[in-house]
Amino acid sequence: MEATDKIWLNGRFDDWKEARVHVLTQALHYGAGVFEGIRCYETAEGLAIFRLDDHIDRFFFSGRCLNIKVPFSKNEIKSAILETIKINRLKECYIRPIAFFGYGSMGLSVKGAPVDVAVAAWPWKYHLSHSIGLKTKISKYIRPDPRSVDIRAKVCGYYANSIFATIEAEQSGVDEVILLDNKGYVAEGPGENIFVVKNGIIYTPALGSILPGITRDSIIKIARDLKFKVIEKKLKPDELKKADEVFFCGTAVEICPVISINGRKVGDGRQGFITLKVKEGYNKLVTGQNKKYKKWRAYVNE
Ligand code: PMP
Repeated sequence: MEATDKIWLNGRFDDWKEARVHVLTQALHYGAGVFEGIRCYETAEGLAIFRLDDHIDRFFFSGRCLNIKVPFSKNEIKSAILETIKINRLKECYIRPIAFFGYGSMGLSVKGAPVDVAVAAWPWKYHLSHSIGLKTKISKYIRPDPRSVDIRAKVCGYYANSIFATIEAEQSGVDEVILLDNKGYVAEGPGENIFVVKNGIIYTPALGSILPGITRDSIIKIARDLKFKVIEKKLKPDELKKADEVFFCGTAVEICPVISINGRKVGDGRQGFITLKVKEGYNKLVTGQNKKYKKWRAYVNE
């Protein structure tokens, strides 16, 4: 990863190399932390963070799910994010706030445990294959059962599931896997939500067993603005395999077409027309060319 100068840690800036925590940090052992992934884009009106308020809200919501009381207000975290971008003189970048149980108590009870909060930001473009198209397969792993965890939260520990899935992808020679839910319906990728196109209609798994992605929400809105019909429903793996187009979406990956599933081409094995239209719409949205959603952009220099 590309290092920058400073990382915000517990209210002050440390040098990138010095932003450390103790090896007995509770979250390192048990995954009891929550985080966000946010992107900042160049627009005609200057650098703008996309849907900052929504990411901050989800960050605090995730914290509440795990009894993490973030020792800063939403406004303070927002300022920390803006300052991190400015102090590092960043342009387009990826932003990573994290709050976690720190050093001082060990074990599974987090009562009274100290909470650490950090904000880092760095330039992070995704690999080209993500824009051309991904070869995928359905994973042998399932997403966490919503009765096992609060799946709406973005909790560090859940990403062990995503890492198992990514190891599986690497070992099977595909770019990414698609995970089903506990009932056998299509859920999402290890770090992305998923959309399927069939006969001109766009489908996406209903909420319940997936992370309620902010990109997913943006896509549903802009696709409807583009006059596409979008339906949220339980999707069977067969509907996925027989789709005309499939694409992943998420803050980090943005929008990337899926060109094969289990060795079988999706559509004609290239990015489909509706995926392209949605991608263009999303690009206009994040780069400030779509005036309708101005409220979704937080300008860094305002
Ligand atoms: N699902 C999972 C499991 C993720 O990790 C992510 C990335 N945060 C997403 C979906 C997409 O969420 P968002 O669009 O809010 O980045």
